[in-house]
Amino acid sequence: MTTTTTRLLIHGASGRMGQALLRIAAERQELTQVVGAISRKVGQRVIDGVPQFASSELGGLPECDAIIDFSLPEAFDPLLAYCIAHGRPLVSGTTGLSAEQITALDAASARIPVLWASNFSLGVAVLVDLVERAARALPGWDCDIVEQHHTRKLDAPSGTALTLGEAAARGGAQARFAAIRAGDIVGEHTVQFATLGERIELVHRATNRDIFARGALHAAAWLARQAPGRYRIADVLG
Ligand code: NAD
Repeated sequence: MTTTTTRLLIHGASGRMGQALLRIAAERQELTQVVGAISRKVGQRVIDGVPQFASSELGGLPECDAIIDFSLPEAFDPLLAYCIAHGRPLVSGTTGLSAEQITALDAASARIPVLWASNFSLGVAVLVDLVERAARALPGWDCDIVEQHHTRKLDAPSGTALTLGEAAARGGAQARFAAIRAGDIVGEHTVQFATLGERIELVHRATNRDIFARGALHAAAWLARQAPGRYRIADVLG
C-alpha cells in the first residue's frame, strides 16, 4: 500500500494544542507535512522550520490538503470562510462555538469536508457509546456529568461534557452538569448514573494532550480524501 503525505496548516499553532500538533506532526513527517502555522500574531512560539502566518493574513496562506484548528471561537469565522473560499477540508476541535457557528459549519459541509469533534481521543469515543447504552438500560436513574480541566480553560461545561450529555439524551436521560477548574488537569469526565441504593460511574481521564493531537492528525489525513460533508470522529474510526 502506498501512503501519501498530507499537507497541513495548523490554526491556533502557538497554543497548548497547537504546540502538541506541531511536535507530533514533526515526528511523523512521512505522513504529514505542516506547511504553515497560523497564530494570532507571528512570532508567538512555534516550531523551527515551519512558515508562520498571522490570522490577519489568511489570504496569503500556502496550498494544503487540510486545515486543523484548535483555537478560540472568536478566531473561527474568518477561518471557516477561508476554508470555504479555497475548498480546504477543515478539522476543528475548538470548543465553545455558538449555535450560529455550528449552523455555519453545517452549511459549509455542502461545499467542503468538515469534521468538528469536542474530543479527539479514542477513549472518549468509546465512552460516548457506553453512556448512550447505559442511559437506555437505566430509565429513570439520575444522570450527572462532572468534568474537570485546568484553570485556563475558558468554556464550561466542556465540549466533551456536552457531547456526553447528548449521548445520554439519545438514551433517554437528562444529564446535569458540574464543572471544576483546578491546577493543570488535562481533562477528566465522570458520568454518574444513580438511583436508590446503587450508582454507576463511567470515568475518562486524559493525562496528556498528545492523544487529542494524534487523533486530530489522523482525522485530517482521512478527511483530506473525503467528499464534502459533515463527518464525525466515529466515521474516521470506521
Ligand atoms: P490555548 O489557549 O492554549 O490556545 C488557543 C490558541 O488560539 C492560541 O494559540 C491563540 O493564539 C489562538 N488564537 C486565539 N485567537 C486567535 C485568532 N484570532 N487567530 C488565530 N489563532 C488565535 O488553548 P488550547 O488548550 O490549545 O485549546 C484550544 C481549543 O481546543 C479550545 O477551544 C479547547 O477547548 C479545545 N480543545 C479541544 C480538544 C479536542 O479534543 N477537541 C482537546 C483539547 C482542547
